[in-house]
Amino acid sequence: MDYLKDMAKYGLSGTARRLKGTPPTPKSSIGRVDYLNVSDEFSQRIRLIPGAYEMQRYDDETGSLDLVTLPFYECERHFIPARRERRGAIITCSAGPDPTAPKPCLPCDELEYFQLHRVVFSIVELEQFHRTPWIKKGTTDPTLGKDGKPILIDALCEDLEGGGNCSMCRSEDDKFFGKSMYWELSNDQFDQLLALEEQFLRTKCVCGKDMRIKKFECSRCAEVIIQMSSTKFTKKELRHYIKNGMVCPACKSLVRLIPIMDCSCEKSQSLNLFMVDLNVSRRPSTTGKKSYTLDVTFSAPCEPDKRYGGSWDSIDLAAVLAPPTIPEQRKICGLRRGAVAGKDNPYHEDYGKNKNQEPEAPTDNKGSFNG
Ligand SMILES: [Zn+2]
Ligand SMILES: [Zn+2]
Ligand SMILES: [Zn+2]
Ligand SMILES: [Zn+2]
Repeated sequence: MDYLKDMAKYGLSGTARRLKGTPPTPKSSIGRVDYLNVSDEFSQRIRLIPGAYEMQRYDDETGSLDLVTLPFYECERHFIPARRERRGAIITCSAGPDPTAPKPCLPCDELEYFQLHRVVFSIVELEQFHRTPWIKKGTTDPTLGKDGKPILIDALCEDLEGGGNCSMCRSEDDKFFGKSMYWELSNDQFDQLLALEEQFLRTKCVCGKDMRIKKFECSRCAEVIIQMSSTKFTKKELRHYIKNGMVCPACKSLVRLIPIMDCSCEKSQSLNLFMVDLNVSRRPSTTGKKSYTLDVTFSAPCEPDKRYGGSWDSIDLAAVLAPPTIPEQRKICGLRRGAVAGKDNPYHEDYGKNKNQEPEAPTDNKGSFNG
C-alpha cells in the first residue's frame, strides 16, 4: 500500500495536476487545513514550522505516562480502505497513549486494523496556489455546496516554469503565494529526514561556514570525553572510537561519542531542519512498487519568505488530527452496530505475512545542500 498515493486518490481529478493538488475534506472547505501531498513528478518548496506540542508517551520500562514537548506532533493513524460507495479515510486512533488501558477505538477493537505511527509537521508550502472550484473525480463540472455555489479548494498552480500552461491561471482563478498546511511522515521517512539533517545541516553553521568538531561527549552521562584542542588521540584512533564507541572515564560504560560542533564566528550554531527551505519530492523505490524514497534537498537559510503574508505560527495539530468520536468512526468504517469486519480485507491484521509492515519502506535516500 502506498500511503500517500492512496491519499492522492481521494483528491480531485480535473487536470492531472489538480489530482496532485490538495484534496478537500468532505464537508466544508472553510477553515480547513490541508496536508502536503509529496509528488513523484515535481518538487515542492516548504518550510517546517516548529511547534511546542505536548504529548503523553508510554514508558515501556517504568509503565508510566510521561509528558513530552516536541517541535512536531506524533499520533497513531488508521487507514480505512474505500469500499464500494464509501470513500477511504485516514483517521487518528482514539485508543490513547496508554497501551495497558486503551480507550475505545473501532478500527482497533472491531476491525483489528493496525496502527501507523505518524510524525506530523506544521509547514508553510512556499509555492503559488489557486483558490479554484472543486471538480470531483469522474465529473467535469464544479461540485456545488449546499448554498448552490461551487465548493472552492486550494490547488497548486500548474505553471511551474512560467510557461503559461496553467488552466487555473487562464480562467483567472484567485492566485496566492504560500499556504499553511501539515505534513505526515512515516517513521522511515522521518528517519530519512533526520539522516539528511545530520549529514547536510548539522555540519553547517548559521553563518554559512562549515562547523568543526570541538569536543565529544558521552552518549550516556554527557561528560566531555575528548577535547579536540588537547587530545592525544591520532586521527585513526579517533575514527575507531567514533565507529566502535569507547569506555567513558566518568560513567565507565561503553558509550557512543556525541560530536559537539563549533564555528569560529560569534553565533556558532548548527543549522537544523526548521532553519532552511526543503524541496521535497519522492520516487518509487527500486525494490517494490509500493514503497518510495523521499527526495529532499535543502536551500540556503533565509529569512522567512517576504512573499508569504500568512501566518508563520504552527498549526494546532492536536485539534486538526483529533480522533473522530465513536459514532463518527462507525460511519467512516461502515460498521453497523455489532458487525464484525471480514478477514478478506488487506488491512486486516490476519491478512498476509507482512501485516505490521509500514506501507512504504524506503531503501535509500538522497540529499544535497544547494547554496
Ligand atoms: Zn485505534
Ligand atoms: Zn496557475
Ligand atoms: Zn559517560
Ligand atoms: Zn559560524
